[in-house]
Amino acid sequence: PGPEPLLSVRGLAAGYGGMVALRDVSLAVAPGEVVAVLGANGAGKSTLCGAIMGAVRVRAGSVQVAGADITGTPAHHRAGLGVAYCPEGRRVFADLTVRENLVLGAPLRLPAAALSERLAEVHEIFPVLADRAGQRAGTLSGGQQQMLAVGRALMARPRLLICDEISLGLSPVAVDALYQALARVNESGVAILLVEQNVHRCLAMADRACVLSRGRMSYAGPAADLLDGTRLDEAYFGTP
Ligand code: ATP
Repeated sequence: PGPEPLLSVRGLAAGYGGMVALRDVSLAVAPGEVVAVLGANGAGKSTLCGAIMGAVRVRAGSVQVAGADITGTPAHHRAGLGVAYCPEGRRVFADLTVRENLVLGAPLRLPAAALSERLAEVHEIFPVLADRAGQRAGTLSGGQQQMLAVGRALMARPRLLICDEISLGLSPVAVDALYQALARVNESGVAILLVEQNVHRCLAMADRACVLSRGRMSYAGPAADLLDGTRLDEAYFGTP
């Protein structure tokens, strides 16, 4: 057995009212690893993120972070666990500056010197966020806003970064820049759970992958094995 997983999800079930959105989903992310979660629209990817972050109620199964069970822990008590979430739709505060957005991602009451240090770390990964520090976030390009959303999540200095559909709606050039930055984040030792519809980009970076299909896990294994299109089709749409 390898090191203790940073994140371990076991037998997870979740839903909305009478609707079951996830059933029996298990996955683990080891320290420093990149794991892809793929799946078509409505497969349950965002529900999985919500269940991990404590925003969607878990009906069965468990979520553990570094060996501690947090299944029932309210979302607002999960700060400090080392898991940061970058939600779908790059939700930046449009009227605040780039710098103000970043500061909101840091723990409250962080001493000024520590805050500057974290800003410098994020600026190193995303130099454009230093160049645009005083600019209102709403006036950034889509790709820059997505960088800001990731940068804000990094201000918490997570050990695991969960990214929900970060390439959605971006140009290929912007997606390239973002993925290059994510590779630097990973090289610095941060594990990444990449939830994506952009299959190829994501598989090229990931160590392992899982595919959700109608709320169930239809594939879990090496990311490289899914580059064979037949296996990917089977996992997405079921065996013919
Ligand atoms: P997408 O890529 O389109 O966001 P997804 O894989 O993230 O898809 P989810 O958003 O997790 O999928 O949705 C899984 C299922 O749960 C879908 O059938 C969706 O309609 C349903 N669902 C999601 N959120 C809610 C909600 N708040 N209330 C009711 N049903 C929901």
